[in-house]
Amino acid sequence: MPAAYPITEHAYDVVVVGAGGAGLRATLGCTVEGLKTACISKVFPTRSHTVAAQGGIAAALGNMSADDWRWHMYDTVKGSDWLGDQDAIEYMCRNAIPAVIELEHFGVPFSRTELGQIYQRPFGGHMMEYGDGQPANRACAAADRTGHAILHTLYQQSLRNNAEFFVEYFALDLIMDDEGACRGLLAWNLMDGTIHRFRAHMVILATGGYGRVYRTCTSAHTCTGDGNAMVLRAGLPLQDMEFIQFHPTGVYGAGCLITEGARGEGGYVTNGEGERFMERYAPHAKDLASRDVVSRAMTIEIREGRGCGPQKDHILLHLEHLDPKILHLRLPGISETAKIFTGVDVTREPIPILPTVHYDMGGVPTNYHGEVLRPTQSDPDGVCAGLMAVGEGACVSVHGANRLGCNSLLDIVVFGRAAALRAAELVRPGSPHPPLANGIEGSLDRFDAVRQSKGPRKTASIRDEMQLVMEQNCAVFRTGEVLRQGVGKIDDAARAYADLGIADRSLIWNSDLVEALELKNLMEQAVVTLHSAEARQESRGAHAREDFPERDDVNWLKHTLGWLDGDCDVTLGYRPVHMNTLSNEVQSIPPKARVY
Ligand SMILES: Cc1cc2nc3c(=O)[nH]c(=O)nc-3n(C[C@H](O)[C@H](O)[C@H](O)COP(=O)(O)OP(=O)(O)OC[C@H]3O[C@@H](n4cnc5c(N)ncnc54)[C@H](O)[C@@H]3O)c2cc1C
Repeated sequence: MPAAYPITEHAYDVVVVGAGGAGLRATLGCTVEGLKTACISKVFPTRSHTVAAQGGIAAALGNMSADDWRWHMYDTVKGSDWLGDQDAIEYMCRNAIPAVIELEHFGVPFSRTELGQIYQRPFGGHMMEYGDGQPANRACAAADRTGHAILHTLYQQSLRNNAEFFVEYFALDLIMDDEGACRGLLAWNLMDGTIHRFRAHMVILATGGYGRVYRTCTSAHTCTGDGNAMVLRAGLPLQDMEFIQFHPTGVYGAGCLITEGARGEGGYVTNGEGERFMERYAPHAKDLASRDVVSRAMTIEIREGRGCGPQKDHILLHLEHLDPKILHLRLPGISETAKIFTGVDVTREPIPILPTVHYDMGGVPTNYHGEVLRPTQSDPDGVCAGLMAVGEGACVSVHGANRLGCNSLLDIVVFGRAAALRAAELVRPGSPHPPLANGIEGSLDRFDAVRQSKGPRKTASIRDEMQLVMEQNCAVFRTGEVLRQGVGKIDDAARAYADLGIADRSLIWNSDLVEALELKNLMEQAVVTLHSAEARQESRGAHAREDFPERDDVNWLKHTLGWLDGDCDVTLGYRPVHMNTLSNEVQSIPPKARVY
């Protein structure tokens, strides 16, 4: 007998899932366009992970150095190791300038230059003159709390425009009809335990990344990629999941982030011999090379016995040579983080650091309007009606195989806005919802099975197993053998979910059940990630194969697609990278060797 739960019904033009920067920008945009819009979030909006973003948002404003959005585009394509779609990258870099000005007008309290303009600092991989010049001052910053400033402002603007929020509602599954279109979703109200069906002409997923498949990462505990898993369960693929960014400057032992802005302000890294080793790996950009490059260099230094400390197992980040006034003005947040988590006073001593999981380049494939793709052999760019995705959960793909710093805050506002504009073209406000043939029984049964589960293993034990596999078998450097083992081990971990047992069967504030549902979501993505990584026999961006050290454009200049059936039955496919630009104001950028 199917699980019986009373259902509360809702009908909206648009339902946005997620209230981080991407979800709020989409919600705000849809509301302004006159669409009846609901925004659902499992945490209070201003607790979304966007609040933790530190360093800045990239835009070629040219306030503090010469700059051009075409240079920004060049750097982004190069940063992506040519896996980014150039039409989408053009859209993002060109729209960066009005997007940041718009944020300023919305009220984001950016730091200022002496002339009163928005303050901009250098960031890794952002250069002048199509990569040939000096580092560009392109990262627009509100001290080192840029995400905090943007998220609070977008929330206030959404309230001002009467957006409706459903806070502490946990989205469970999409509702798909027989034609394969998305027609809404099912959610659980964490506060009173009720189940809700939201009907919508457009669902916009903005549920963020899935960093928590790893034990140590810079992202919040809520970053479990729930929307990505909902997409997999709806029979749609995820794209480029093998590309996971390790940030060079995670705090050793704790994993929390020290922004790349620290190096943008003049910080540098040294090995156990006190050497500024980045000069050897990236003679031109040095400490401001792209993140994948710096993380690999650090890992090699440690592996070759040149790490720091008694165990020679970390690297040092130096800020103590900088003027304390600058540290206080521009980097107050990370000064505090270093003090709390390592006891280091940054004005006197270096911070111990280690490459730490930070960002997921992969996610739900979309076009640059935010529409989710349902790719087939004959139509690799075909779309799924009624469904959009934006933010870190989406793969537009502007970041390709490696994201540049400050391009994610940009991505979330540019494509949050683009999705709202597209939704306004596709949805007539107030149009009736046709009857739904397809039920929600499958999703309710899934929910109920986890709630009633009585197996011998706890969520934490299966999660530990998954995180250990990811840490050991899907790290900065990879080999075929390690990945093959990883595939076997992650499939075992995924099957172990059948042995889950939870202790709390209530429906009200049941964090035991929330964590069990999140673990299932994480596991599905971990499985697709490892299968995708094992298949890609080349090195590109964040995917560094020691057995295939070169990039292979002949065979691998293509996006990976991964579909999931059951626990661990993965089907892989591929689709072409868009090498074309949108306009003739800029030339497409052909692949070449990627050196910094
Ligand atoms: C420490 C840190 C520092 C960073 N610094 C920078 C930086 O300086 N510059 C930069 O460009 N990028 C930075 N990034 C990356 C960037 O901040 C993120 O990629 C971006 O903010 C993600 O935004 P988002 O809106 O996609 O997701 P999030 O902000 O993670 O929001 C996800 C939302 O989805 C909701 N949600 C998730 N699952 C469910 C569910 N099942 N039901 C209901 N709601 C759900 C959550 O409640 C939340 O509201 C940083 C990231 C970290 C971790």
